[in-house]
Order: sequence, then C-alpha cells, then structure tokens
Amino acid sequence: MRLVTIDNQGEPAVAVERESGRHLLSAPAGAGLGDVGDLLRLSPADREQALGAAHPEPAPSDARLLAPLQPRNIVAIGLNYADHIKETGMDAPQRPLVFSKLTSSVVGPSDEIQLDGSLTSQADWEVELAVVIGRTARRLPREQSLDAVFGYTVANDVSARDLQFGDGQWIRGKSLDTFCPLGPAVVTPDEIGDPQHLALRTRVNGALVQDSNTAEMIFPVAELISFCSHSFTLRPGDVILTGTPWGCGAFMDPPRFLAPGDVVETQVEGIGTLRNVVRAA
Ligand code: ZN
Repeated sequence: MRLVTIDNQGEPAVAVERESGRHLLSAPAGAGLGDVGDLLRLSPADREQALGAAHPEPAPSDARLLAPLQPRNIVAIGLNYADHIKETGMDAPQRPLVFSKLTSSVVGPSDEIQLDGSLTSQADWEVELAVVIGRTARRLPREQSLDAVFGYTVANDVSARDLQFGDGQWIRGKSLDTFCPLGPAVVTPDEIGDPQHLALRTRVNGALVQDSNTAEMIFPVAELISFCSHSFTLRPGDVILTGTPWGCGAFMDPPRFLAPGDVVETQVEGIGTLRNVVRAA
C-alpha cells in the first residue's frame, strides 16, 4: 500500500494510491486525519477501519503532495554506509551514530529548500531511506524489530556542513527550516520487501551525484531499530533516517554545495523521488 498526504483544496488529507488513482481515506467518527501520522496514532482497530474505508471516487490527481507525515521525532543515523565512510576518511563507528533533526525542518516532496546565506554557505544533500515507525517499541530484539515498521519513505537530510562541523555537535546544521524534504509516499513493507536491497540516488540539476544501494549499510534497518529501542522508546509516527551513501558535495574535490536555482532530486527504489528547488531565503 502507498499512502500520501495531499493538499485537498486547502485541507490536508490522506489518500491511498492505486492504479485507479488516489483515493481519500476517511477517519473513524471523531478522529481527524490530516496526515499519515494521524493514522498511526489511531487505535489498531480504528486504523484498520480507516485503511479499509477508501473513498471509491479518485481524489484530484493534480493535488499537491505534502510531507506524508509530521514526524513525532526524527532520529537520524550518521556514517552508516561503507562507501560514504570511505569518502569522509573517518573511522567506521562501532555502534550506530545517533543524532536528531528538529521536526520543524520537514517540508514536502516538491517544496523549496530555502538557503539563508547569512547562516550557511555549505548546504549539502543526503539521500536516505526513512523508516516510519508504526507501533510503540521498547527494547526490541533485532529479530522482532522490523515488526515495528509501518512503512518506508524518502528523506533528503540536507546538511549545513559549516554549522554541522563548526558547532561541535550536529543539531543546528541538520535542522535549518526546510532542510528535511520527506515523501513522496509512505510505502508499506509488503510492497518494499527486503529494505536492504533498494537502490538510492541523488541528481543535482540532472547530474547523478549519489548512486548506491541500501545493501551498503553497516547497521541494517533491523539493527538500527533494535539499537534505538534499547536507548529510548520509539512511538508511532517517529521516523528514522538511516544514513546516506557516498556522493555528498562536501567530500567532492573541489567541494560542491547547493546554490539558489539548483534542483535536487533524491530517489529510493520502490518509493519515489523528492524534487526540491533551492531558493535564497
Ligand atoms: Zn544523514
């Protein structure tokens, strides 16, 4: 199943994408359904009811896509691809390197990335497989941890390298407004299959800059969820960004950073593509 959040004539709404088009989902009585996150916070019975109650008439096909959900928490993982660690010249972490992005950085799959030149001159791209948590998870063993996944989406973990490395810790450089494009859809695990065999790519102005596969992850999705859930409780609507492969602009020779007018396309196989134009804030 592919779920999207759309701008339905000024009101956010959740729709399921089928070959016949997008069909709006209705909330059970008394519940609002403004995004996929609202769906995840319903009781299991109400969630099932909402998912089974798609409107038979297609929703407008030209409706703008919004971020599929406003995450509760964004947990992010650094240095999780062998090919990326090689280009950074850093040592591979002995355990997952966990950081966070503020949720205020989230924008939709076709929204602008806004660059404030007074804050950063080193904005960089990072295509990532994003895991959407569907149930409360605490101290999950690795063998059970994929049961906590509701679905997968695409994130661009846009990073202001000058702030990320200049601040001594990462949260500000990772959290500028518009620095987390998310979407275009949340795709359920039955359609994705093995999350460790997905191609992921970034194009900037049409030129391929990142081209890898989730098979390159050092700590696979199941291990990341287990590790995180032993440290803090994961809840429905939390999102884990699982790290980025080689090809970031900061590690090119010479380095290449985003500038106003650039078009960044980040793509994960089986999910879709984010297309974000960079604008001066
Ligand atoms: Zn990242």
